Amino acid sequence: MNEQYDVVVLGGGLAGLTLSLQLKKAKPGISILVLERRETAAATAAHKVGESTVELGTHYLREVLDIKEYLEAHELPKHGLRFFFKNDTKDDIASRVELGPRLRLPVPSHQLDRGTLENYLMKLTMEKGTDLLLGAKVSGVEISGENGHQVSYIKDGEEVKVKCRWIADASGRASIMKRKLQFQKPMEHHSNAVWWRLKGVIDIDTWTDNKTWQSFLEPGLRYLSTVHFMDNGYWLWVIPLGSKNTSIGIVADP
Ligand SMILES: Cc1cc2nc3c(=O)[nH]c(=O)nc-3n(C[C@H](O)[C@H](O)[C@H](O)COP(=O)(O)OP(=O)(O)OC[C@H]3O[C@@H](n4cnc5c(N)ncnc54)[C@H](O)[C@@H]3O)c2cc1C
Repeated sequence: MNEQYDVVVLGGGLAGLTLSLQLKKAKPGISILVLERRETAAATAAHKVGESTVELGTHYLREVLDIKEYLEAHELPKHGLRFFFKNDTKDDIASRVELGPRLRLPVPSHQLDRGTLENYLMKLTMEKGTDLLLGAKVSGVEISGENGHQVSYIKDGEEVKVKCRWIADASGRASIMKRKLQFQKPMEHHSNAVWWRLKGVIDIDTWTDNKTWQSFLEPGLRYLSTVHFMDNGYWLWVIPLGSKNTSIGIVADP
């Protein structure tokens, strides 16, 4: 480890890892330290939400970071968003109002297993010459206009200090810089979410024997959509993952 870096990235999740890769691509000589408080590799299937990507984000991953090959081999293609609206009865999936693409979409996107993806991004990050520390919890940041900024972190019970020209806060909900600089703003809209993963594949095409309904889409395409079941005050998502598990979540108004 050095005592001085061009950039110290706070947090080695999706934003921190992709930023470090993008910076290395633009300026191969740049020195970067990524500090991640998690101690070990990320768990497959059960790591994080944030699995259903939009097309623009996919373009960034595939073309800007150039990880198209990895995505095609290890993550699922996504077939857009699909909504099932409330009906008189929920007994028959084929009778619910369905909104979603029928034909194969021309612009690619993916359903990401965040554990597999972040482990791959960590490997790439280190291969490109970035220092990445797991089990390194950022404990303090000092901004200085003159001698460079200083970041403190705890690793193996010891506090370490490092200097840098730039700090990139990619700590997600921990929002290290936002809290330090008091940029928080009150949120008027409160919503709740709960999520979990189920082992195995859930393919809603198999929830009915109605061949006409099934034939509205090519076999296998409905499975690849981000499926939303809508009801009053809540919706439930079903997202397939490349590890052959399923992400389920509920978003609800209080
Ligand atoms: C219910 C729900 C559903 C979502 N669904 C989607 C979706 O379908 N599609 C989508 O694109 N997005 C979705 N999102 C949003 C998505 O999850 C986030 O935008 C994304 O994970 C943010 O990535 P990030 O790298 O900024 O943060 P994270 O992935 O949270 O990474 C932050 C990293 O910083 C580390 N860290 C934190 N504090 C410290 C510290 N003090 N020291 C060192 N390291 C630290 C953490 O361990 C973590 O690894 C969803 C979010 C929620 C809550």
